[in-house]
Amino acid sequence: MSDTSTKGCIYPGCERPAAPPNPLGGPQPAFCDLEEHNALTAHQERQRLEKEETHDG
Ligand SMILES: [Zn+2]
Repeated sequence: MSDTSTKGCIYPGCERPAAPPNPLGGPQPAFCDLEEHNALTAHQERQRLEKEETHDG
């Protein structure tokens, strides 16, 4: 019920699981293993989606 160990990719619309943590240590990535899913592209995608939200139909 309270299993929060599995994170998902935070890229808008992406339902893939986040990439596993680096075996050498460090925090688990917030994105999946797709190279195009990273903080920069996620930011750009969010802005693109915001503009598209004006479309009603
Ligand atoms: Zn992703």
